[in-house]
Amino acid sequence: MRNTHDALIIGAGQAGPPLAQRLTAAGMSVGLIERKLFGGTCVNTGCIPTKTLIASAHAAHLARRATEYGVSIGGKVGVEMKAVKARKDTISGNARKGVESGLERMERCTVYRGHARFVSPREVQVGEDRIAAKRVFINVGGRALVPDLPGIDRVATLTNTSILELDTLPEHLVVVGGSYVGLEFAQMYRRFGAAVTVVEKAPRLVAREDEDISAAILQILEDEGVAVRLNAECIRFEPSDAGIAVGLDCASGAPVVMGSHVLLAIGRRPNTDDLALDKAGIQVDPRGYIVVDDELLTSAPDVWALGDCNGRGAFTHTSYNDFEIVAANLLDGDRRRVSDRIPAYALYIDPPLGRVGMTQTQARASGRPLLVGRRPMTRVGRAIEKGETQGFMMAVADAETRQLLGAAILGTGGDEAIHGILDAMNARIPFTALQRAVPIHPTVSELIPTLLGDMKPVAARD
Ligand SMILES: Cc1cc2nc3c(=O)[nH]c(=O)nc-3n(C[C@H](O)[C@H](O)[C@H](O)COP(=O)(O)OP(=O)(O)OC[C@H]3O[C@@H](n4cnc5c(N)ncnc54)[C@H](O)[C@@H]3O)c2cc1C
Repeated sequence: MRNTHDALIIGAGQAGPPLAQRLTAAGMSVGLIERKLFGGTCVNTGCIPTKTLIASAHAAHLARRATEYGVSIGGKVGVEMKAVKARKDTISGNARKGVESGLERMERCTVYRGHARFVSPREVQVGEDRIAAKRVFINVGGRALVPDLPGIDRVATLTNTSILELDTLPEHLVVVGGSYVGLEFAQMYRRFGAAVTVVEKAPRLVAREDEDISAAILQILEDEGVAVRLNAECIRFEPSDAGIAVGLDCASGAPVVMGSHVLLAIGRRPNTDDLALDKAGIQVDPRGYIVVDDELLTSAPDVWALGDCNGRGAFTHTSYNDFEIVAANLLDGDRRRVSDRIPAYALYIDPPLGRVGMTQTQARASGRPLLVGRRPMTRVGRAIEKGETQGFMMAVADAETRQLLGAAILGTGGDEAIHGILDAMNARIPFTALQRAVPIHPTVSELIPTLLGDMKPVAARD
């Protein structure tokens, strides 16, 4: 059957459904195509399930520490993995159903189930349906990168998607990749009771962060018994009677780690290889990301790419912001651009890392005169009261303009408290304005004015 719409949206991720809402409300007929799970990565295999599991892991961790707070549990703390998974499935499933039923109920929106492939500019095939539209919006997201490492085809490995189906505890989980996705699973499974080893090729964890952040995260994980193997060269796999042998030529330590399960967490790749983009004249970069301009228009007229597939963000909030940018430009006459966005994100280990703007390394490389402030969480009252004093907060600002360039809060409540700095950066106010604020006591945020009042000059790197 051949159908036509004013607009076609491929993928029901974080940008597609709200865009469908805006376009239909503006009177357009919209076709939305989803090949699998409504809500995409965040709802089904990313943020929502992982943060739900992390909450269970946190409960187990606090229960084990109960006596430190004067609370007795009366026996060994147990984790019932089937119940943990059921809780996750309910929360994630409810979110998925909400997205799906919202789209089904949406006036002027036709939902197509199946895999979309371009057949010509602004025309796709989905099963028996050929669907054309005046405008096309691509929101196809990404998936776990499965590396071509020696022996990988001879062993069973997990990704962020398949690990979410486990309802039993691995004896020993080997996490290949010591970055954002890998570390959240590593700490979570350690807290569920598994032995966990993180294998990372780089000399430090989350190498995109400043060195002191990487070191503090390493400490947090090692303190909980997560084994970390850095500088792991030539990672390879071999089946063995005892499980999966993960070979690594590290500078020191055993050359093989024996795991019962292996999670691959070495990065993501965009879902653009099976869209036949060439039929529509849509360019991709060498890594497969769709090339877009500052307003997310692709190289093909009237085709936009939003979310992870355009390589301009890798988060739910950046995908949603892509929707806001496209909608503002198309419907509101409001010229919003991707380059206006200040990068911000969190890493949800516990305590979490909240991050905004530049790292100190990036700020120093920019060659500007800088002011830097740093405060350990051991000097934050709320952290002491909660018994969670790991980590530190830091901020970096331009010494001349007094504009904040970046900040990190690795510590309890860091994912929330960082928003004080993010808001100031979005408002483009000098950091001195925050020093006059009267924050609520006792909070982590109340130390932000103190942190900023204690900024010291540091040399830019030549
Ligand atoms: C383990 C993990 C944890 C994460 N945690 C966080 C977090 O805490 N905070 C955060 O901000 N981000 C997090 N992320 C990242 C976040 O999930 C993604 O950035 C976000 O979901 C991207 O949304 P999207 O709109 O680009 O696409 P997606 O949500 O990936 O949706 C794309 C949709 O398109 C569909 N699709 C693909 N190809 C086709 C096709 N050809 N035809 C039809 N449909 C198609 C897919 O089935 C999918 O439903 C996490 C990611 C992972 C993997």
